[in-house]
Amino acid sequence: MAMKTLEDAFYDELRDVLSAEKQLTKALSKMAKKASSQELKKAFQDHLQQTEKQVERVEKAFEDTGKSARAKKCEAMAGLLEEAEDLMSHDADPEVMDALLIAAAQKVEHYEIATYGTLCTWAELLGYRTAKSELGQNLDEEETTDKNLTQLSKKINTAANA
Ligand code: FE
Ligand code: FE
Ligand code: FE
Repeated sequence: MAMKTLEDAFYDELRDVLSAEKQLTKALSKMAKKASSQELKKAFQDHLQQTEKQVERVEKAFEDTGKSARAKKCEAMAGLLEEAEDLMSHDADPEVMDALLIAAAQKVEHYEIATYGTLCTWAELLGYRTAKSELGQNLDEEETTDKNLTQLSKKINTAANA
């Protein structure tokens, strides 16, 4: 597609994040199953529920563009999740696997934070108020999730290193 204006760039990036979130709903349920720590399992399950809601918010954000909410494959998320799949296939001690799951999950959250950060800045510039509000809520949830994972990692990394 033609990429002449910031509106075009915004629409393209919105399609990308819609794909990213959809890919994540599948991955997070696998990660929740794979986690041994009950706290970590719950963190993944909770974020899965948030992610399902995030998909709806992204779909709502499309309203400002006047164009249809169609996902375009996010190759970066596909790559991050391919790495996550690969590490989940390893024969690791439960605590080490949990540490690996947190590492993979935080890479994902950071990617999402970067994407929503850009999208919020662009939405503001473009005067897309619905998008700004919906995407801002997603950004807040990704940031909170990232901090929560850092908190969980303290105990889990120590256990993995025992
Ligand atoms: Fe998300
Ligand atoms: Fe992407
Ligand atoms: Fe997330």
